[in-house]
Amino acid sequence: MNFEKLVKEVNRIGRELPAVLHQLPVLPERELEYREGAYGITELLSCPIKAEIRRKLQKAGIELPVEAQEIEDGFLYENLVKLALASLYGEKFTPEKLLSYDLEVDGEVFKIDGHLDCFLEFDDKVVGIELKHTNLNFDNELTDKPPQLIILPPNDRSRINLNYRYFLQVKIQRYLLEKLYPHKKVETYLMVKTQLRTKYKLGKTTVILPVTESVTEEELKNLCRLFRTEKKPRAKWECKLCSYREHGYCSGHEETVEAEELTEDRSELVTSLLSRRKELLAELKMIEDQLKKLISGSVTWNGQQIGWVEKVSYTYDLPALSKLLKAKGLKAADYFQVKTAKIKEIERLLGSEIETVRKKEVKKRFVLPR
Ligand code: SF4
Repeated sequence: MNFEKLVKEVNRIGRELPAVLHQLPVLPERELEYREGAYGITELLSCPIKAEIRRKLQKAGIELPVEAQEIEDGFLYENLVKLALASLYGEKFTPEKLLSYDLEVDGEVFKIDGHLDCFLEFDDKVVGIELKHTNLNFDNELTDKPPQLIILPPNDRSRINLNYRYFLQVKIQRYLLEKLYPHKKVETYLMVKTQLRTKYKLGKTTVILPVTESVTEEELKNLCRLFRTEKKPRAKWECKLCSYREHGYCSGHEETVEAEELTEDRSELVTSLLSRRKELLAELKMIEDQLKKLISGSVTWNGQQIGWVEKVSYTYDLPALSKLLKAKGLKAADYFQVKTAKIKEIERLLGSEIETVRKKEVKKRFVLPR
């Protein structure tokens, strides 16, 4: 695979971006198709609850907005590479190639629908390229200044900080390609656009990692088993970055309740009730989103105005209001409250003096996870 040529073509198209922008919609939508009951490779390597929520949302016709800047940058980069491959290899190139494979795991079929970012088919070989766009992922001092392209030795992740899951993802893609194209040579690569910190500079570069090992069948089966049984995040940070948590479809992974004030059997019941509550909240959120889509204005339901109801609110010029109250012989303090968001700032400004103007009160309230 000639990556020098590919990176040059990506850069050329990148420079002519305004002129090629109209071609971007020609490429397939990022929304990928799956067979009934099939899972993607990224799903297999992530929290299985995400896959469940994704399918429920799809059924309900709900699409979550893509907000992260990196995702947009990554999307643009992916499309540039795909345009470059299409321009260099024509019909030999297929974007988002579907790799469907049924794996028997403990007597049951586990359907895998892998989506390969870039697929090329030649007479004697097939090539798979998985694209990633990461920020500051590589920080080892590889060279004095970042070159345009770095091709690493096969499977060698020792000189760079590379997320193992990306590597594993390509190993699974390779396994599927070997199964689906048994008579052809298989080449697989991870192509990463990233920032590289070197001795003197920080700069963008493309890193190619040739992946020449595929996952073993037993490793893949274990991943499928884990996916069926361990319904929780695969990495500590997964909940923090999860858009389903951000949009209220999941409140995150709950650790079991510490049995501080509870007997063991009550602790189990509390855990199961909290999980049930979590499911119901996600369901409720889905229902609310569907209703928001269905009701475009305001309607009356059981005598109550619901839907997009106007709510009037006011903002006040506080110094002027305080003056007006004073003029009427009233004390502004009787009508104003300290803004919760400003309390820390006031504490910092007044130091211990704040205790002279506030009274402490402790109340207990019942708190549940959000
Ligand atoms: S918030 Fe955490 S537990 Fe919930 S779906 Fe996302 S990753 Fe999984």
